[in-house]
Amino acid sequence: MRNNKNGLLVVFSGPSGCGKSTILAEYMKDRSDCVFSVSATTRAPRPGERDGVDYYFVTRRKFETMLAKGQLLEHTVYNDNYYGTPLKPVLSAIKKGKDVVFDIEIDGAFQVRERYPEAVLIFLKPPSMEVLRGRLEGRGTETAEVIDRRMARAAVEMERANEYDYVVVSDTVEQAAADLGAAIESARAKAE
Ligand code: 5GP
Repeated sequence: MRNNKNGLLVVFSGPSGCGKSTILAEYMKDRSDCVFSVSATTRAPRPGERDGVDYYFVTRRKFETMLAKGQLLEHTVYNDNYYGTPLKPVLSAIKKGKDVVFDIEIDGAFQVRERYPEAVLIFLKPPSMEVLRGRLEGRGTETAEVIDRRMARAAVEMERANEYDYVVVSDTVEQAAADLGAAIESARAKAE
């Protein structure tokens, strides 16, 4: 879809806790031709997360207003919180020829595909469910109940991995970032 002008829409999904943001940060470092789509969410910030960088942390009322005004490309409810992608920054980046990378869950991924069939969908799989649980517990930011819900959701998401264009396994950050890059270049070659 780049057709020498527009950037690619790269949707990156995978169970919460499998290292998506670290792998994306590794892939994106030193890449000025690629921007991260900062989502809006009603969930509370985790320690170290910055408003406007990791997410736009908004109230439910603000989120519902954005939704009503058609300002979101896609959205979902995840663990009782809203998450959604502001549309404007995406359109402005791809017009400038930049790739836009989305870290979003499966409902949102398929909404992006429906609206932009040329979007590239890449799924990140943990090496195993045990490794995933260990990472979620190690993060130490969620209650046992939230971890159980995230594990249940992970199982559902993994079943749909085969609907994505590419699957990457998150063994190490460096290897997964390299595999992500290879998937994106392969998608670009196909599009061109
Ligand atoms: P977390 O709360 O761990 O940051 O994110 C929870 C889940 O929401 C992750 O799977 C993440 O990819 C997804 N997510 C983050 N932003 C968005 C968004 O804008 N839209 C959708 N559909 N999912 C999102």
